[in-house]
Amino acid sequence: MPLNSSWVSSANSAETDFPLNNLPYGVFSTDTLDARCGVAIGDMIFDMYAAEEQGIIDLTDEPLFDVPFWNELMEQGPAVWTALRNRLTDLLAEGSKDQALVEPLLVPMANATLHMPLVVSEFTDFYAGRHHATNVGTMFRGPENALPPNWLHIPIGYNGRASSVVVSGTDIRRPWGQLKSPDHDLPAFLPSRRFDLELEMGAIVGMASDGPITVDEADAAIFGYVLLNDWSARDIQAWEYQPLGPFQAKATATSISPWIVTKAALEPFRTSTPDREFELLDHLKDTGPMLYDIDLSVTLAPEGKTATTIAQTNYREMYYSSAQQLAHHSTSGCPMNVGDLLGSGTISGPTKSERGSLLELSWGGKEPVTLDTGDTRTFLEDDDRLTLTGHAKGDGYRVGFGTCSGTILAALDDPYKC
Ligand code: MN
Repeated sequence: MPLNSSWVSSANSAETDFPLNNLPYGVFSTDTLDARCGVAIGDMIFDMYAAEEQGIIDLTDEPLFDVPFWNELMEQGPAVWTALRNRLTDLLAEGSKDQALVEPLLVPMANATLHMPLVVSEFTDFYAGRHHATNVGTMFRGPENALPPNWLHIPIGYNGRASSVVVSGTDIRRPWGQLKSPDHDLPAFLPSRRFDLELEMGAIVGMASDGPITVDEADAAIFGYVLLNDWSARDIQAWEYQPLGPFQAKATATSISPWIVTKAALEPFRTSTPDREFELLDHLKDTGPMLYDIDLSVTLAPEGKTATTIAQTNYREMYYSSAQQLAHHSTSGCPMNVGDLLGSGTISGPTKSERGSLLELSWGGKEPVTLDTGDTRTFLEDDDRLTLTGHAKGDGYRVGFGTCSGTILAALDDPYKC
């Protein structure tokens, strides 16, 4: 598919994340405008609150954009999702007869602050990247037992916390926790010394369900995708995770990119999951290409220094799609809600430069990563700034996610000392 030209000239650059083909959904404010829904187009944001107020967007009897989150649009279902995308495409396309109406409602992105684009109902994080699971399993349990016996049959996950999902740009405070070093018999309560990132994609559920759904139904229920960084305290995790899985190690924060890239925008970039070692049971079988070809990268910048790319990989490396994860999540009868966020699991590729966490990049801290600045890292240090980026590449354009950044703040003083 070629670039769809827009009268917003910055949207026609091959380098922008936000051409007319994309139209991602966010929430923004400025010095003079309260937080509201907006659509990114080139280096501008189309003010959806104002557009609806002025009758330029008029899809439903009740207003959709009188609130600063996209859940109300999601609740309308796929017919309205499509109607909105078609209307936006008409309004912003080269030669649109409505240019004069829309132009005053564009806000320069440079003047805007971006906020959480949705109310996250619940957050579940999976562990569905085979290279990541193999690397971590090899470090924790040895190469013979790297993949647990269930891994090739179900997408393993844990129920995370919606309360600590934050938007890109939010600082991340190094957590305290109970941890035990291998050299000591007893645990201690300390700031995490092995604080890490995880490069993931997040899928946003746009249609509720109440009971088991198929992979096709799950795919239809997904509204869009964001970049996701599942901040992880490895030392807390190593001590707490058996037998019920991660808990406080993952509860500090999860960052997401501020723009929801819709499934419709990603449609040209669908790709298949890898070959199966074991045939999946019927309820999880692949029914079509449900991953996406999205280039992903991570940079690390020490305080006041330039950023180094520490990993580059692609979303197509996943073993399970988000649709398979969502279908699996529903098998027990678990109701799924509009605004549920599903983390893909860390996305690592087969080579060292494709590893989506410092745990893997530094092989458990044994092989420090050297940055372009000459600094070395095993895990994150205070004031490090981490940035995830991602985009799918079309013919002369790209569909991008913007950035998902966070800066590590030093741990507070001991929170339990008076
Ligand atoms: Mn994770």
